[in-house]
Amino acid sequence: MNCPICHEPLIHEGRTFKCKNSHNFDQARQGYVNLSRKQKASGDNALMVKARTAFLEAGPYDFLRQAILETLRKLHPDTYLDLGCGQGYYTHVFSQAAKEAYGIDLSVPAIAHAAGQDKKTQYVVGSIYDLPFADKSIDAATSIFTPIPAQEAARVLKDNGYLITVTPGTMHHYELKEQLYAQVRFNPPLEPIQGFELVDHQEISQVVHVDDVMTLLEMTPYFYKTPKAGIEKIQSLKNGLDVTFDFVLSLWRKIDES
Ligand SMILES: [Zn+2]
Repeated sequence: MNCPICHEPLIHEGRTFKCKNSHNFDQARQGYVNLSRKQKASGDNALMVKARTAFLEAGPYDFLRQAILETLRKLHPDTYLDLGCGQGYYTHVFSQAAKEAYGIDLSVPAIAHAAGQDKKTQYVVGSIYDLPFADKSIDAATSIFTPIPAQEAARVLKDNGYLITVTPGTMHHYELKEQLYAQVRFNPPLEPIQGFELVDHQEISQVVHVDDVMTLLEMTPYFYKTPKAGIEKIQSLKNGLDVTFDFVLSLWRKIDES
């Protein structure tokens, strides 16, 4: 890892990470380090982390996690980075496929939760758009339902390094959207990522019975655009909802500029 202030390498000494210019970053009790330059809290708050954790542990995304793990294993990465790792639901499993693993997210409560569960991965509070890693230092990275920081991902990946992305498939959350909108718009097809070539992609889907539909809605990007009537409708679903989970799992190779 690199210092977020001067970009010199960070040396891990005891419970502190420090660079040669004496910038110090203390490791938290759970083991993570905060390298964010923002002092204000951002990302998921503690309540959201708790709700999401309970939701994820019920298993609706387990089949997706298994498919990503199989893709990652074939790459045999020495160094692995999870971009926007949240509470580490994917990271703690994927870290087993690498010698060295990192997870980065802006949310302190999410990172604290992740670090408390997983001692193998070094968790970092920081921005995916300003990664505290050296150029060409990572073999494989994942970006799962997060915005894709193409330029930063290309910078930190080694030549011919790999990026795995998960984006919503056309039918993703169809039944949930049907509850909210008079006319459901399908998700757009896969878009290219600058600096990367698409090596492989697969669409995987499963219909899952969701008990806590409200938490599912809160985890989606459309939650903030949902009118009050839509929220009330979701809250009134006492028996849950069968929802299609449809993902596009893509493997990208960094284009070597040399
Ligand atoms: Zn420094």
